[in-house]
Amino acid sequence: MGNICVHDTISALKRKRNAVILAHYYEPLEIQEIADKVGDSFELAEFSRKIDNPVIIMCGVSFMAETVKILNPDKTVLMPVCGAGCKMADMVTAEDVRRLRKLYPAAAVMCYVNTSAAVKAECDICCTSSSAVKAAKYLKQKQIVFLPDKNLGAYVRAEVPEKEFILWNGFCPVHDCVTEDNLRIAKAEHSKAKVFVHPECKEEVCRLADFCGSTSQIIKKVAESSDEEFIIGTETGVAERLHITEPEKKVFPTRGNMICPDMKKIKIEDIKKSLEYNTFEVNLPDKVIIRACGSLEKMMEACG
Ligand code: 13P
Ligand code: SF4
Repeated sequence: MGNICVHDTISALKRKRNAVILAHYYEPLEIQEIADKVGDSFELAEFSRKIDNPVIIMCGVSFMAETVKILNPDKTVLMPVCGAGCKMADMVTAEDVRRLRKLYPAAAVMCYVNTSAAVKAECDICCTSSSAVKAAKYLKQKQIVFLPDKNLGAYVRAEVPEKEFILWNGFCPVHDCVTEDNLRIAKAEHSKAKVFVHPECKEEVCRLADFCGSTSQIIKKVAESSDEEFIIGTETGVAERLHITEPEKKVFPTRGNMICPDMKKIKIEDIKKSLEYNTFEVNLPDKVIIRACGSLEKMMEACG
């Protein structure tokens, strides 16, 4: 009853403010259900560029809200909670990028979207997990400094052997802890299952998988597959969604506890407060927005 009331209030506030709600697949299901659009990092960024609403609520972590703001500088972009960050994004700073540029002057610098706006502003091109291979191929330079994710970097290096990669040592604590043994044990328990993992998993784990892709690509691949059982190597939000959207398919985890705590911080009440009190507005310096937008636009260009 309480929640029905909150949902009604949110709908009324959304109409009043002409707001749209975006959510990532790792958000709790109740947040995904209330969103106008659920997607992976690339889809949410792309979708945000096509909407007219003056207010955008981004349910995800801070780099996602910053990305929406960079692409929509004249709109009000809100994050319903403050302090939902990405542990991997915190592993590289703008100063690190400036130092790398001096060390590798001939290289292009490519950053994963899981970085701060200040880091994006220092890079030549940005990428998401679904666009990283296209972005690397699009660059003219043969040498590419890739940051911060060493695992996604290794995945791209394997897919684009004609280029030379210098990888930063960052990682996602949620994906990096999946081991080959976890996969072997899961496979032994569910021998008919196909293994689909996110490229933030270790290189050797990706190599053992049947498919490696972004959150949306994993969901699409399960939906389109004629197989009936799947072992999913990414944050639990994806498997939870698949239990709802593909009820006849069996979905198992690679290991327990693949939860990104920062993605679970938003509660329905926070969205209501966000619409009522304009909390928490994303603001970035104009100079950062202009330069970071260059990296994101280049990624979009690379994807055609
Ligand atoms: P996607 O681009 O696949 O949505 O991944 C985002 C992310 O943070 C994975 O940990
Ligand atoms: Fe960052 Fe990992 Fe959480 Fe994705 S799952 S937001 S990479 S900490």
